[in-house]
Amino acid sequence: MKKQLYHNEKLKSISEMSASISHEIRNPLTVTRGFLQLLKNQNIDNEKKKTYLDLSLRELDRAESIITDYLTFAKPPVNVEMELLNVNDEVNYVVDVMQPFALMQSVSITKEVLINESYIFGNKEQFHQCMINLSKNAIEAMENGGELQFKVNKEGNKIIIQLTDTGVGMTPEQIARLGVPFFTNKEKGTGLGTMVAFRIVKVMKGEIKVNSKLNIGTTFTISIPEKVNKPAID
Ligand code: ADP
Ligand code: MG
Repeated sequence: MKKQLYHNEKLKSISEMSASISHEIRNPLTVTRGFLQLLKNQNIDNEKKKTYLDLSLRELDRAESIITDYLTFAKPPVNVEMELLNVNDEVNYVVDVMQPFALMQSVSITKEVLINESYIFGNKEQFHQCMINLSKNAIEAMENGGELQFKVNKEGNKIIIQLTDTGVGMTPEQIARLGVPFFTNKEKGTGLGTMVAFRIVKVMKGEIKVNSKLNIGTTFTISIPEKVNKPAID
């Protein structure tokens, strides 16, 4: 039953997104084609040549990023298995995976775990993807270094995972547009990362909230129903 629901949700979102994805990929391809056409002209100077080539490469990179981000969500259903996930183990995994990127940006990662062994229900790869997308944004928001804190807690029957950064923060307008496909403030951004993260949390029957102050930082709070491993005996 749960698998079926999940599958339907997935098909719907894939069909919703397909049209805008093809549009967004066509743009950089059209632009690149235009530059290649210009490069056929023998008379252009070297400086112009370099500009056209750089812009073409940037556009192709963008097309590639869109495809990569999109595919992380639209993986074939055969890979999508819902299972019990050990929250602490999976958060540890994400921290380990993000460590090299954080180091590169002079960001230190801290972790505060306030729960014992606890479980949530979801697809492992997608849960990782969700946390990685949010962490990546957090680290990218700290150009001059900073701190990314993971906090894991419990409230009632909900597992609460918080990601706090000391980055540039967002205006209320930026917050309002979070999760809208292709909304990006980055030159090479795809504007798909938060949308994918939001959808994954939704599939896990969870909620995601954001609290952000310009030039102070941002906190994403994810709450997901806890899954108790064994039925309680009363
Ligand atoms: P992308 O990272 O490709 O731009 P996302 O959907 O991942 O696309 O993010 C959309 C936009 O939201 C980013 O360009 C950025 O401006 C903003 N954003 C997301 N997370 C944060 C954060 N932790 N701090 C500041 N801005 C953020
Ligand atoms: Mg992103």
